[in-house]
Amino acid sequence: MIRITDIIDNIYDYYPDANVDIVDRAYIYSAKVHDGQLRLSGEPYLSHPLEVASILSDMRLDTTSIACGLLHDVVEDTHSTIEDIENLFGMDAAKIIEGVTKISSLSFNTAEARQAGNIRKMILAMADDIRVILIKLADRLHNSRTLHYHKKEEKKKRIAQETLDIYSPIAARLGIYWIKKELEEISFFHTNPEQYEKIKQLVSTNQADREQYVHEVKNSLHDIINHAMLNCSVNGRYKQFYSIYQKMLSQNLEFEQVYDIIAFRIILDTIPHCYEALGLIHSKWKPIPYKFKDYIGFPKPNGYKSLHTTVVGPYGERMEIQIRTREMDQVANSGIAAHWSYKEGKTLDNETQNTFAWIQNLVDNEESSGDPEEFLENVRIDLFPKDVYIFTPTGEVKNLPKGATPVDFAYMIHTEIGHQCSGAKINGRLVPLQYQLQTGDRIEITTLKGHHPSPDWLTYVKTGKARSRIRQWIKKQETDRSISLGRELCEKAFRKNKLNFNDLLHSKKMGQAAQDFNFKTVDDLIAHIGYGKITPLQLIGKLAPDVKPKKEETLFTKLMPRRKEKKDKDADGIIVDGLDDILIRYGQCCQPIPGDRITGYITHGAGITIHRKGCVNALKMNPERQIHVQWKKSSAGSFGVKLYMQAYDKVGLLAEISSVLSQMEANVVDINLESEKDKMVNGFFTLAVKDIDHLDDVITKLKKIDAIQTIKRA
Ligand code: MN
Repeated sequence: MIRITDIIDNIYDYYPDANVDIVDRAYIYSAKVHDGQLRLSGEPYLSHPLEVASILSDMRLDTTSIACGLLHDVVEDTHSTIEDIENLFGMDAAKIIEGVTKISSLSFNTAEARQAGNIRKMILAMADDIRVILIKLADRLHNSRTLHYHKKEEKKKRIAQETLDIYSPIAARLGIYWIKKELEEISFFHTNPEQYEKIKQLVSTNQADREQYVHEVKNSLHDIINHAMLNCSVNGRYKQFYSIYQKMLSQNLEFEQVYDIIAFRIILDTIPHCYEALGLIHSKWKPIPYKFKDYIGFPKPNGYKSLHTTVVGPYGERMEIQIRTREMDQVANSGIAAHWSYKEGKTLDNETQNTFAWIQNLVDNEESSGDPEEFLENVRIDLFPKDVYIFTPTGEVKNLPKGATPVDFAYMIHTEIGHQCSGAKINGRLVPLQYQLQTGDRIEITTLKGHHPSPDWLTYVKTGKARSRIRQWIKKQETDRSISLGRELCEKAFRKNKLNFNDLLHSKKMGQAAQDFNFKTVDDLIAHIGYGKITPLQLIGKLAPDVKPKKEETLFTKLMPRRKEKKDKDADGIIVDGLDDILIRYGQCCQPIPGDRITGYITHGAGITIHRKGCVNALKMNPERQIHVQWKKSSAGSFGVKLYMQAYDKVGLLAEISSVLSQMEANVVDINLESEKDKMVNGFFTLAVKDIDHLDDVITKLKKIDAIQTIKRA
């Protein structure tokens, strides 16, 4: 069993000034709380956190990470709590342990391969500190190394498959290839023991010949490179069994057809030496087209650099060669950890920052936002600032935008489930429908037959799908209501005129009438009668021109408030299609006056509001409520209209203006002018005018006053 002193020695090797106090204390605490627990191997449980800490020290991590390696299972497996960790080891450690524990508590159903990508994203999204992931990988590595102690074959296979689906790809993304390879080799052994053994045997046949071959090639490479006075080390190694197997699978090859089961690696001092060595090798052995990759000129997104080439070797066989510097080799092996190492308390230099920037693009996340420098300084990651990952009741992982609610989820599953969504449970607990989903939540929707969407859902749903489905539903309800109101209005009016609405409803005449009113269907026509845009009498006029319509009170006219005083009949100055003495109001936003192009909007319980055509407020109204209105030929009223004025401040200006206005019989209703420093007067006044011609005359006269620079309708 590894000892804590070995780990501490290891830390001092790469970080001579380290304060290992936290590591010491974490060791003592972990030993205390895990006391009496055993691993399946029969060893004391403590061996596991020690091994994990040791792996983390191999990755040259900071002391907090290593302490967390020692503590990573205490919250999950002992009576210890996150608060205990925070009190004893500080916030940083507590956050990391919390993250590790949260990920451990997830249980995945990886049966479907397409799930794996989402699960990886979920894990990465849950870890807001990259150290959480590194600890999780070290944990998984040691658990894989001891997986053979598991008795149940099925469980062993499941864990190994999960490692292949989830953890080795994460290690690869982070560029920690040695962990990726070891995880793959062990998991391959457990998931597919027959194939593993077969490849192992095939590799070991003719082993003596192969070793002779490796020896020979290594010598040749040394000769070639040393001849050019370059310093190098060369090694030849068997490719992983797992990657040989993958190659056989993906290219449908027999083992004998997989040539490059041995790969050579040449380590040199400098980058120019690497290219020089490449040239020497290509001039000795013929390179295979398209197999050359320059990852020095074009590093992989995770920072991996190397030259790769495949050449036709001494026996006509394919031979894969990697060429890189010592530093590149180190980065290739430990990946992010190499950049990371013990940067504790130091600000990151530019190059390191650039190296870290790729993390944001980790899993094809083109839209990742946020300030990369800020995230680096805090050593925190939020890889998916716009997403949350949640579990369905069957354990599938689904991706929704951040801020999404159970209603969004319900619509994501099915429109009907959305419509009938009446409640939600998160991790077994009831939550309100506006609850914001968190990564890792397990969600369950309750539906109720006959339950229906509420317009307030629109105030909190996040997804376009939910929003549009809810809107569609509401619109359909409105239309349905208007159709039934329209029918009711028509039935009454038709009866009064001795006509049978229901008989006429499906007649050709009715279809023609709908077309005449410019509607696609009869339902549209009836709905518009329900909205009040067309009156039943207008329809009767179309269907039975001979009938002299009896103007009876209809439900619609009953609904519309009346003008209180009837004596000044023309005061409103407005004719509403087919309706008399409806309460009229004028939009204060645009102050229409006779002669303006206008339109009306039916407001429930407040009659009709008149706006100028193109008024921004009118454009916001529901077009279904729009109704045709026009000015009466002669209207006796006066209308307020606001004017904007800019003028030079001079004595007698106001007197001059008021003389024009009184001459024009336009009363000033309100005035609000301000003098500015530069001798200008600026402001608004409201006049009462008869109509647009009157207003135009007034403006023309006012413009003739010299001091006035600008005068126009506001
Ligand atoms: Mn563990």
